[in-house]
Amino acid sequence: MARLWRAVLACLVLTTLPLSGNIGIEVVEEVPPAWPEGSEAYDNMVEMANFGYRRIDTNANQNARDWIASQLESFGYEVERQPFTTEVCSNCENIVVTIEGELSDEWYVVGAHHDAICYSPPPLIGMTYPTCTSSGAYDDGTGSGALLELARVFSLWEGKPTHTWKLGWWDYEEWQGSGSPEGGGKGSLHFVTEQIPDDVEVTYVNLDMFALNWPVETPIASQLAGCNEDYWTLYQFTSPVSDWSYYEGNGLEVTEEMQDRATWFQERLKSINSNLSHPEQWVRVIDDTKGNSDHFNFIMNGHTATWIRGQHQYIYEEGDACEQTPKHAQSDSVSTLNVLGGGRVGVESGLQTGLDIVATHAWWDWNIAQNDSQVISGQGDADVVSSQVIVAVLVVIVISLVAVVMRIHKINQ
Ligand SMILES: [Zn+2]
Repeated sequence: MARLWRAVLACLVLTTLPLSGNIGIEVVEEVPPAWPEGSEAYDNMVEMANFGYRRIDTNANQNARDWIASQLESFGYEVERQPFTTEVCSNCENIVVTIEGELSDEWYVVGAHHDAICYSPPPLIGMTYPTCTSSGAYDDGTGSGALLELARVFSLWEGKPTHTWKLGWWDYEEWQGSGSPEGGGKGSLHFVTEQIPDDVEVTYVNLDMFALNWPVETPIASQLAGCNEDYWTLYQFTSPVSDWSYYEGNGLEVTEEMQDRATWFQERLKSINSNLSHPEQWVRVIDDTKGNSDHFNFIMNGHTATWIRGQHQYIYEEGDACEQTPKHAQSDSVSTLNVLGGGRVGVESGLQTGLDIVATHAWWDWNIAQNDSQVISGQGDADVVSSQVIVAVLVVIVISLVAVVMRIHKINQ
């Protein structure tokens, strides 16, 4: 019997050994102390929409950015206001906070725009008129509200990230319409050209219009109208791996380093999605071939970027009947989002998908020492550990049973 118990003990030690090795106790501590929530991002989006039409140079625009700044201060951030002017904007302002990392010359920046616009729908593109107003719930209450929720969560994380993080709420992303002498993207352009030192390398995540994406199902009405997709897609339009034609056409000289970093970033985003079990068909990392939001300015200035965006960007080109993005119009409201998203809970779940991607990108950066392959996350490690515990328990049960059977056998003899 003593020999049997020695065997049981040996088995126990063997099966539990990995727990105290590489992925031991530190892994258990790697569980994030806080994680962003779709419901909080939704509330922020509603707050943004409630400020009204946040067009540049309006009270609504100023009130919204003041509110963002006050929220950030309540989370303990030191808020940087970065005012700028352009030909048509006399009172534009970006709101920026910084989380110092180990590396001061490599930044991870996340941004969204806080302004909104309204003009005539296609085919009369870009005609503004006095009664046209938009609460900009989707464009970009979703992005700016989600970014505020990420800021709240990052303020609760202990320790220091590897990279220096900057969170930015850009003003004047929106083109002011066909009567305007200048284009949009002015807030992010100001940041990229005035606020990033020459020796700093940036990886940028742009949040502009998401929530109507996986796991939100396309509405029955749109399916009846010919939409043959089960879910809205979440795109990550990323620095290109193969097709740089759009950026080259805009004058960018693509270097080998840009190319390498684009490959690295697309791989990282794919690892994040597979780690989160996001279905590749509905949460897609693809080359950005159109610009069309603030990430454009980062890529044109030699940095690496992705744009997280729900629904198709170009309904008419993609030729399907699924995507009807409520942007730049009176219909861009919270109630439209609720209808398209199948209720508040649906919109929250769509927001959650994007939040999880950015938070995982951040969490891996906060924990790079335990995580240098950047493929394993806290969640994944926890699964490995718990499966080892299950195996150990099973082995103990089997050995105990064998012992009992042998004992009974002995008694019977
Ligand atoms: Zn936008």
